[in-house]
Amino acid sequence: MVKALREWLQALEHLLLPPQALCELCRERPALDVGACRICLDSLSISWEKRTVQGYPYFSLFPYQGFGRSLIQSMKFEGRFEIAAALGFLLGLACREEPVLAGVDLLIPVPLAPARLKQRGFNQAALLADNIVGIWKRPICSHIVRTRDTKPQSGLPLEERKRNLRRAFAVLPGCSFQGKTCLIVDDVITSGQTFFAIARLIEQYGGKPLGLFAARTEMFGSEEVAEELPGVQ
Ligand SMILES: [Zn+2]
Repeated sequence: MVKALREWLQALEHLLLPPQALCELCRERPALDVGACRICLDSLSISWEKRTVQGYPYFSLFPYQGFGRSLIQSMKFEGRFEIAAALGFLLGLACREEPVLAGVDLLIPVPLAPARLKQRGFNQAALLADNIVGIWKRPICSHIVRTRDTKPQSGLPLEERKRNLRRAFAVLPGCSFQGKTCLIVDDVITSGQTFFAIARLIEQYGGKPLGLFAARTEMFGSEEVAEELPGVQ
């Protein structure tokens, strides 16, 4: 009887004072209303930046180093979907505030090579896009596909990266990019060759491409970066 009463009181307490949600990045400290705690947000070194790859503009949220890099690797290689939820939420907030992105019509997650998708079981770019549109309402278009299994881009020199991606993507029927602003989404941008290949394809189909990445590498071309990006496409 006493036990039942105690449980009832606890349930009532939770109803009146719901326990504060934990940060989705560290799962240790209470979250702020953006889903992560202050310490994790500071450790990400968030800096929203606009850059271009051969004339195509893209935005990114933080440098691919330290805490941010380990989060992305945990999301991809350990399947920690709550990290995708937290990063997608932060990206969605940034997109909502960015005037250049106000006219975006479609989100296009970078497709994974079929063999990689089978091995990993999910596409981290699609996962991020699903979470971004949770707070920034836009349709997701999955009509750009990989036509073949390309070698992983990591570890390849720049020229070979370009060759590796030649005719690697195609547009499936049933989706028009004509006159549409299309936001290409992925977790990390390294050399930008994947982004460039898809951007050019969208442009050939009459669309206006832009890019959105959680993280950016700063030192592309060094051995160190190539080694540190085991799964980056
Ligand atoms: Zn945290």
